[in-house]
Amino acid sequence: MAELRRSAEETHPDEARLWTEVVATARRTVADGLVVGTSGNVSARIGDVVLVTPSGVPYDRLTPGDITGVDLTGRQVLGTPVPTSELPMHLAVYRTTDARAVVHTHAVHATAVSTLVPELPAVHYMTGALGGPVRVAPYATYGTDELAENMLGALAGRSGCLLQNHGTITYGATLDQAYDRTAQLEWMCRLWLTASSVPGLTPSLLTEAQLAEAGERLKGYGQRR
Ligand code: 13P
Ligand code: ZN
Repeated sequence: MAELRRSAEETHPDEARLWTEVVATARRTVADGLVVGTSGNVSARIGDVVLVTPSGVPYDRLTPGDITGVDLTGRQVLGTPVPTSELPMHLAVYRTTDARAVVHTHAVHATAVSTLVPELPAVHYMTGALGGPVRVAPYATYGTDELAENMLGALAGRSGCLLQNHGTITYGATLDQAYDRTAQLEWMCRLWLTASSVPGLTPSLLTEAQLAEAGERLKGYGQRR
């Protein structure tokens, strides 16, 4: 069979631009303390190619020559580095949603919450920005199809979920949106841990109706264009 994999030199300009953004986003997860070392991974879709961070490579070492791309079946179509071990999760998101970017982290407060409850209690209206109360996908070994399956179940109707005893995964229409959802999720987990650690007191929670109303309003949040 003919070699269908393109080398880094054969990268299209739009792919090269998006790769720069993937690397910048991955570096941001480390800079903002959402992951340590080479934990976590980032991907973005361009046409039927998914650019992914390579497995186990420190993000500050990634260059344009390290571009790594797979198709939606996981076949490597661009570059030589071994893709992230969490390819099954990333591809499951792209196959079942309109996502253009996916961010996976081991953010500490989110991971702590994933060990305590099956769903993050709705302590803040930003829950609405993720589509509703954020579920925890049952534990499975990292990098497995089983983990991807558990994640899909927890993601139904949401743009993010927690992975039990592991971390977070969120997606969005852009890398910035996927990243921001991870940051908001980590912040909400920290908020709930803080509020629920006051002895003798229990945080009040928002109702489904309150969350739905905030979710609707958030669609018009920010600057009108
Ligand atoms: P990779 O370095 O293979 O992307 O793995 C990191 C990770 O978070 C696995 O769950
Ligand atoms: Zn992980």
